[in-house]
Amino acid sequence: MGILESLKALLFGKHDVGGEKQDQKPADKPADVIVEKKASIIKEPKEEKPVADKITVGHVHMSGCTGCLVSFADNYEGLLTILDKYADLVYCLTLADVRHIPEMDVALVEGSVCIQDHIAVEEIIETRKNAKIVVALGACACYGNITRFCRGGQQNQPQHESYLPIGDLIDVDVYIPGCAPTPQQIRNVCVMAYLLLKGNDEQKALAGAYLTPMMNLAKAGTEACGCDVMYNVINQGLCMGCGSCAAACPVRAITMQYGKPQIERDLCIKCGACYAQCPRSFFSFDVVNQYEGIMEAIDAAMQP
Ligand code: SF4
Ligand code: SF4
Repeated sequence: MGILESLKALLFGKHDVGGEKQDQKPADKPADVIVEKKASIIKEPKEEKPVADKITVGHVHMSGCTGCLVSFADNYEGLLTILDKYADLVYCLTLADVRHIPEMDVALVEGSVCIQDHIAVEEIIETRKNAKIVVALGACACYGNITRFCRGGQQNQPQHESYLPIGDLIDVDVYIPGCAPTPQQIRNVCVMAYLLLKGNDEQKALAGAYLTPMMNLAKAGTEACGCDVMYNVINQGLCMGCGSCAAACPVRAITMQYGKPQIERDLCIKCGACYAQCPRSFFSFDVVNQYEGIMEAIDAAMQP
């Protein structure tokens, strides 16, 4: 079984995503598709612009600050290119007038789940049922992050007091860490998800290489703390002293000393913010070795 088959089995094998859709053959590379369709539109002006080659994407908002959605929108023209060429936004409370979670290829889930809110719990389960690929968008969805602080007592919902990262309730395929993730990172994952589902063999291989470290983060689970930064980044010689972990820590358990993070384990509340924010926590030589090809594929896809 090749890498692509392995990835597809990994992404789709454990979830019932419907045999009919899985059997669909991927289209040729996006540029060819668009050229052909434009040509056919010229020949047959009455034909509607086809959208079947796009993937369907939804943004599912759980408990969070909406910073991840703002970051997604901060792609400006890039967002318009994605929506024009690659993705139909089929669910997004603030941007699409849809009230029930529909079937979709990719669900970007922002925020953690309040387990005292039965509607939120039902929504996340429905999301898993209806999406082929579930992406935890941002540190709250991945690890809990700031919502680990919530202790209830909010004026309008005093009973809401326990929040879980989405991976504690459903299987998650990809993590996009960060609080918030950068606009480019969200854009790149959207483009790579498209190429993985619809691209040619070469594009699928690049998309697989790009997404694998983030899929591995999702497989590693929902708990991360200062010790993970210590063992998986600092002790591996990967720390570049950027200070993002110290800046992200809400309880100031990390200080930068001599250019390296020092972690007070006794202060750590295990929110995972430092690990989610560290650019080296999902470092991959596979991505580094194919960096030029990956960036060329993304740049080509983002041409207006
Ligand atoms: S060191 Fe700070 S940011 Fe990291 S998990 Fe602990 S409390 Fe959270
Ligand atoms: S965020 Fe990561 S790379 Fe940056 S200082 Fe902290 S451990 Fe090092």
